[in-house]
Amino acid sequence: RIGLSENGSYSRALFGESFHRLLSTHTGRKLQDKVALITGAASGIGKATATKFINNGARVIIADIQQKLGQETANKLGPNASFITCDVTKESDISNAVDFAISEHKQLDIMFNNAGIACRTPPSIVDLDMTVFDKVMKINVGGLVAGIKHAARVMIPHGTGSILCTASITGVMGGMSQHTYSISKCAVIGTVKSMASELCRHGIRVNCISPFAIPTTFVMEEMSLLYPNVDAQRHMKIVHNAGVLKGANCEPNDIANAALFLVSDDAKYVSGHNLVVDGGFTSFKNLDFPAPDQVQ
Ligand code: NAD
Repeated sequence: RIGLSENGSYSRALFGESFHRLLSTHTGRKLQDKVALITGAASGIGKATATKFINNGARVIIADIQQKLGQETANKLGPNASFITCDVTKESDISNAVDFAISEHKQLDIMFNNAGIACRTPPSIVDLDMTVFDKVMKINVGGLVAGIKHAARVMIPHGTGSILCTASITGVMGGMSQHTYSISKCAVIGTVKSMASELCRHGIRVNCISPFAIPTTFVMEEMSLLYPNVDAQRHMKIVHNAGVLKGANCEPNDIANAALFLVSDDAKYVSGHNLVVDGGFTSFKNLDFPAPDQVQ
């Protein structure tokens, strides 16, 4: 057990990068000995990703505004998970979370800016409430930019790191959501390209994932406002039926798998990329022509 710490990880400094790569390959654990900070990981996509990262050898810090749920999630995930209260609209909270990673684990290899909110604003631009717009942009874009800023602060001196963000298919294609949410997710995709252009010089990769609709907490809350007279089971079915890929539904674990790929060495030359996980939804529109025998 030479070089192994109490929790079974080993000293990377002692054994070096090549040994680390060899061990990761040998064990199949793609994030062996890495440290990841994930915002919005108390539930949904963030929680599924935290679970996946831990199962692949990482130590994960769950940073979320929901203190009780965040702590419960960390307890459930075991000794390689910890929780820190973090409201991404407060830059000092993000800075503290990054500093916590360094003080607890001496490193930050992966930053996943995932926290985000949906919002119910009137569908027409002429009725847009600019106060709601500012609030959503502050969380979905401002919080994410601050996350990249503080992750870069500690990653640049090491000349390596992987930053990931959660965008959305609503940022890829118009008409999938009301304007405010779409605009915020469009900005995430642009932010990733802009940040990747600078951080590539420091060996840091920056990518995002655009998921299709998944019935997580915020989507289910939206559904119950949109369709108040039907139960959760029906809401879930409506979300899943909106997909185009027969025989599969989009689930948090599908995003966690994409996240694992993007932050691991499997994607060591991928940066500035938006990985769309939508079963093909945004790639085509099938023409709905009538059958020939139905046309006079
Ligand atoms: P979720 O509601 O399960 O998770 C969102 C998490 O973010 C929650 O734990 C919440 O407490 C946290 N959060 C909210 N505001 C915060 C703040 N100010 N500071 C810190 N944490 C905060 O929903 P989810 O679907 O897992 O959402 C995760 C991300 O995925 C979001 O960015 C969302 O926009 C994006 N997304 C979701 C879908 C979908 O259909 N579920 C599709 C595309 C993109």
